[in-house]
Amino acid sequence: MDDEVIGNLIEIVGEEYVSTRNDVLLAYSSTASMGVNSIRPGAVVRPANATEVAEILKLANKHAILVTPRSGGSSLQAEALPKEHGLVIDMLRLREIEIFEDLRTVRVGAGVTFGMLDKALGERGLWLPVYPESALSCTIAGNVAVNGAGPGSSAYGSIAEMVVGLEVVLPNGEVIQTGSEANPHAPGPFLRYAFGPDITGLFIGSLGSLGIITAVSVKTYKKMRHLYYQTYGFTKREDAQKFVGQLKHNDVKTLFMSLYEGRILQFFMDMLGQEYGIPEHEWPPYTISLIIGRVRQELLDSDVQTTQEICKSLDGHVIGISELPQGEWEDRMWSFARSCYAHGFWWRTLYHHQTPSNWHRSVEEIWAVMDQYGFLGHTAGFATGHTSVNMYPHLYWDPVDQEEEEKVVTAHRDLAQRIFKTGAVPFKLASYWVEGVEGMEDYLKLIRIIKETIDPNGIMNPGVLGGV
Ligand SMILES: Cc1cc2nc3c(=O)[nH]c(=O)nc-3n(C[C@H](O)[C@H](O)[C@H](O)COP(=O)(O)OP(=O)(O)OC[C@H]3O[C@@H](n4cnc5c(N)ncnc54)[C@H](O)[C@@H]3O)c2cc1C
Repeated sequence: MDDEVIGNLIEIVGEEYVSTRNDVLLAYSSTASMGVNSIRPGAVVRPANATEVAEILKLANKHAILVTPRSGGSSLQAEALPKEHGLVIDMLRLREIEIFEDLRTVRVGAGVTFGMLDKALGERGLWLPVYPESALSCTIAGNVAVNGAGPGSSAYGSIAEMVVGLEVVLPNGEVIQTGSEANPHAPGPFLRYAFGPDITGLFIGSLGSLGIITAVSVKTYKKMRHLYYQTYGFTKREDAQKFVGQLKHNDVKTLFMSLYEGRILQFFMDMLGQEYGIPEHEWPPYTISLIIGRVRQELLDSDVQTTQEICKSLDGHVIGISELPQGEWEDRMWSFARSCYAHGFWWRTLYHHQTPSNWHRSVEEIWAVMDQYGFLGHTAGFATGHTSVNMYPHLYWDPVDQEEEEKVVTAHRDLAQRIFKTGAVPFKLASYWVEGVEGMEDYLKLIRIIKETIDPNGIMNPGVLGGV
């Protein structure tokens, strides 16, 4: 990168926080995303606050430098990969946490991870109930930028539902605040839907292509101490689906509700059965693993009773193996990720949301793609929010085999297109979701217009948001 630009960056953040060293650039040339080539940026800058971010973006605009915001680098679909000779803006130095107990919210800097926040809130008996598996490295801001979800989402929805306001530096260097905090006299974050349209939503899932989030305000809740773990078995798919719907409909507080199809559960057992201490079992065709959580024991008791009654009414049975949901919850499936890596697998995933009555379509499509391309894979799903089920199909391949790696990229795109046709929706608008898509032209045109209006020089992470 140009010496003059590097000099200007140093003026903004100080020498210690700008780097063009080869080893540093190498570290930033890849992320947790697998099956994509590394790209070496021209420089890395590590601002301390929104003012510095604003100055950096003004500079990048002036010199038409492509910018990639990066937080934990844990995203899986190459969205935090730098552009060649571009500038990576590492957000991890923004670590403030301000708790507003009376407003039941917290405002965090863009560098705060879920793990850091959980510790700070936990000391006051509070939590943010959506907690991704990657919580120790993934930031709240990064998760908002991808519109993620995780354990907790079965009751509380995706991270988007937790957001009350955002501080965002626009590509031209202007700093805006959304939600109730847009009023400089507001005592803190207390309402997202303030001052007209939902501008907050514009930046949720925007993949760092419309601006840089420097602070996020989210809801907090009293930490749940009363938890119940159970597995339920069903012979018929329709009954398993109805079970999920009826639990929701009857307001049973299922913090995490996973849906497993028999053959796939066996795959999970091979991966992590031992680590979670799950006893050998002849699993039924459909298993629902769930964690119910409540702040009071009597509410939990009532939920458990309702759950048993609904299960019985649908010809289901209580399996009685609590180790599976308990492992999923307490470990937040970190063991699962560890097991994948320990087995030497690399994986490409394709997070998407299905309806409960259609989740088997995702299962069918992944099996078809596995058969066609000869890959090992699986998918399960967990309920998210009002009705949707977040499916996370994985395709595994051997990273030392170049041919396999090329094939998995094709299989992944193929799977995205097949799944789109089942009526599913992605929660992030990665480019492979929109390739060849028909019937959404006007919507995608609007995305392009928004991008071009907010970022006329196209400097902000180009190409990641639906290809624009
Ligand atoms: C083992 C494992 C398990 C995972 N489990 C889950 C899970 O349960 N749920 C889930 O949702 N995800 C999961 N993920 C994916 C990943 O953790 C999420 O995508 C995460 O939200 C990314 O956050 P990050 O801080 O690492 O962001 P990064 O990877 O650094 O960035 C992600 C995207 O956001 C942009 N971005 C980053 N910071 C900002 C900012 N401050 N302002 C604007 N844009 C920004 C980047 O440019 C990029 O486009 C998992 C990943 C791994 C490796």
